[in-house]
Amino acid sequence: MIIKVAQSAGFCFGVQRAVEGVLAWAKANKGKSIKVYGMLIHNSYVIDKLKELGVEVVEDIEKICKEDIIFIRSHGVSKEEYVEIEKRADKVYDFTCPYVKKIHEIVMEHSENGYDIIVVGDMNHPEVKGIVGHVSNNRKCFVVDGIEKVKEAINQIEGKAAIVCQTTFDSKKWTSIKDFLESHTNYKVFDTICKATINRQKEAAELAQHVDIMLVVGDKKSSNTNKLYQLLKEIKPTFFIEKVEDLDSIKLDSSAKSIGVTAGASTSPEQIEEVVKHLEEKFNEMNLKDFERLIDRSFLTVQRGEVVKGRIIKVEEDYVLVDIGYKAEGIIYKDEVIKNGNVNLKDLFKIGETIEAVVIKESDEEGNVVLSKYRADVLHGFEELLSRYENKEPVRVVVKSIKEKSVVCDFRGTNVYVPISQWGEDVQTSDIGKIFEIEITDVNKEKKIAFGSRKSLLKQKEEERFIKQIESLDFSREYEGIVVEIKQKGIVVNFENLCGFVPASEVGYLKKGADLKKLFEIGEKVKVKILDIDKNKKQIYLSIKKTQDDEWAKRIKNLYLGMLVDCEVTKVLPFGLVVWITEHDVDGFVHISNIPLGYNQRPHNVYKVGDSLKAKVIEIDEEKRRVALSLKDLHEEENIDTEHNEDFVITLADFVKNIKLEQ
Ligand code: SF4
Repeated sequence: MIIKVAQSAGFCFGVQRAVEGVLAWAKANKGKSIKVYGMLIHNSYVIDKLKELGVEVVEDIEKICKEDIIFIRSHGVSKEEYVEIEKRADKVYDFTCPYVKKIHEIVMEHSENGYDIIVVGDMNHPEVKGIVGHVSNNRKCFVVDGIEKVKEAINQIEGKAAIVCQTTFDSKKWTSIKDFLESHTNYKVFDTICKATINRQKEAAELAQHVDIMLVVGDKKSSNTNKLYQLLKEIKPTFFIEKVEDLDSIKLDSSAKSIGVTAGASTSPEQIEEVVKHLEEKFNEMNLKDFERLIDRSFLTVQRGEVVKGRIIKVEEDYVLVDIGYKAEGIIYKDEVIKNGNVNLKDLFKIGETIEAVVIKESDEEGNVVLSKYRADVLHGFEELLSRYENKEPVRVVVKSIKEKSVVCDFRGTNVYVPISQWGEDVQTSDIGKIFEIEITDVNKEKKIAFGSRKSLLKQKEEERFIKQIESLDFSREYEGIVVEIKQKGIVVNFENLCGFVPASEVGYLKKGADLKKLFEIGEKVKVKILDIDKNKKQIYLSIKKTQDDEWAKRIKNLYLGMLVDCEVTKVLPFGLVVWITEHDVDGFVHISNIPLGYNQRPHNVYKVGDSLKAKVIEIDEEKRRVALSLKDLHEEENIDTEHNEDFVITLADFVKNIKLEQ
């Protein structure tokens, strides 16, 4: 890191004279009552130092005592004040800056000779108050800080006038006021602005042009330091440093190589030195590396037509800056990135990325090496495309144009055609200039063109998203979904941005064959639980029934083993009958072994859907939510049931789960 300190940084002549004078006197006269009339300087660092030596600041003239040794600061005081201080104090040392004193003399002499006085400056500034206090009582005095006020003053002046300026007034404003007065009046204009301030500002502005950031060291209460800061921040990123700790909060851009340091008129040399030392320590390691790098770089040369590799260090709207290991940086303008394509460079490039480019000019007006990425792409882009194609790696392309049948893309200078049907979604004209990932499906080496597909990549991504999503599904959780389709064999439900199928048997505790279209509506909200996931078929099976387990328990509450129930056949299977237990609104199953069939008879030979039956409950499996029934021995059971009805009532609650009766 290069640190450059402005030559004019810090104390001006007048302030230095006052501070050094007071410090020297205080060191040599310890124990004496030494006071400065008014704030010697707007700098708490210096004020603290003075306090350590016993120097006090007195703002109120009434508080000055006989034994006090009073120092007048560089801003000066009015004539009256000076006389009063002299009367009250033991001794007075006047450290009014000679430039300010000169103004006192001008206004005194001219006002005594019949001139009215215009002071250009800030009427609250102590220096201005001191100047006004030197104007002869019988003359008019105006303090102005702009052309409008100047005009008002002119209207009130009848005779001759003399104009002076506060030493630290804004130089631009002063120039315009001075020009106005010189062209509109014949007043005597004295250019009393202090050149120390102008020179400091000029030098700092000049320095700012040649560094990456500027630091202004000083106290925020100091007006001239503030002015300096305001001026510089218009030119470069500028930081106000009151104490060295403030340096820690500065985040340097990785491309920053130099820091400029300046300071206001009230900043002591020690403060500047401390900041510079701290900066050197902070960037010491970096300095060494930078230095070595700079030495290395100074031996390197670049030539027009040469292919260079570099690291992107800045991406702007119209250009990209690249560190190519040379003493100057490489610059790639937008039109050298891609031919006939309007791209957003910020989408295309990332800071830190390495790219290849061809030197098209060794140095532009700014000293940068002008590069072309497009030309390097033409040289090596096709090779990379071929290698990606062979390795089945996706490529990032920029859409150049949209034709009737294909989207024309660019991959490092090679045209890649993606058929509209392979784009995977609607092609928009707003896609032009944007970057997309595609896979290369074919390459024509002779013509140096390629073909691609985005559809397959999108599909793959969709599959990956699906797998990721289903892996996060919780089988024990209830999800809220929306019915999106009603089919004969079940309903399709959208939940968690996924689609799942609820088979008819899982839509609820319904009678088999119930018309789902009468039971559900598209858009209806339903609660579902995951039943199963078939990753190969990418199918999710859901159940509404599982969210209604309490309902099943409620319905079978009054069923008991051995109970005779009325049923309706809802399905005839080769191995049994699915029945609807009508009074209790639940399914039941009669296994073939519990159906009295004749020799070689199967259920369908005897039963059909809709048949009414009486069956006996022989098993209630709560866990599997299943009621098993039998059509055998009904008469016998019926008799027992009738004879011992009162004693034989066994409810589900009386039985432990999963008790199986002998068949
Ligand atoms: S800024 Fe100029 S006039 Fe003011 S004290 Fe410093 S040298 Fe004197």
